[in-house]
Amino acid sequence: MKESRWNSEANWNTPAPGELELVRRFLNTWRIDADTREPADELPWLLKDRRAWEERFPTRPPGDPDGDAGELLVRLREDLRGALGAPEGWTEALNGWLEGYPLVARVVEENRGASVRYEPGPEAGLAGRVLAAVARSVEDGTFFRLKACPDCRWVFYDKSRSKTRVWCGMYAGEGGRACGTISKVRRYRQRHKAGE
Ligand SMILES: [Zn+2]
Repeated sequence: MKESRWNSEANWNTPAPGELELVRRFLNTWRIDADTREPADELPWLLKDRRAWEERFPTRPPGDPDGDAGELLVRLREDLRGALGAPEGWTEALNGWLEGYPLVARVVEENRGASVRYEPGPEAGLAGRVLAAVARSVEDGTFFRLKACPDCRWVFYDKSRSKTRVWCGMYAGEGGRACGTISKVRRYRQRHKAGE
């Protein structure tokens, strides 16, 4: 019991593997604030704070002449959040973005064989790197482990063997939230009410 509690607390912010973590961080620049319950968007101030940007994203910060425009990033973030959970039609928006940010195929030697990797074009910026990471993760299946909590919309990486995790966390603490527990209590109350 104690161990599972610890796991839940730690899990809310488990990094996604490789470059997919960049995607997770990018998607979490928008969230529902725990206290106010209002949507909070970090992109506007991140776009203006070069140092904060570089800490969050190891990529050229916008504001450079050919950097990604903020509006474009907001749209990309919306579309990618909309693709989480692979709802009907999720590939359409993604393919639209990939047309605008063509990936470069590279053959990479591996042990005695080789594999093909897709990388963003040299001028692609954050949007291109995010899209390249999404494409790779769709191919290896890790993209489908990226999920948004139904309550607070926090994007977490589902490491569970069964891939059935729904909530960002069960217990609040260290920035994590208790969305799973809150939902349980809510369901319990509803059942209780219905039984009255
Ligand atoms: Zn949550």
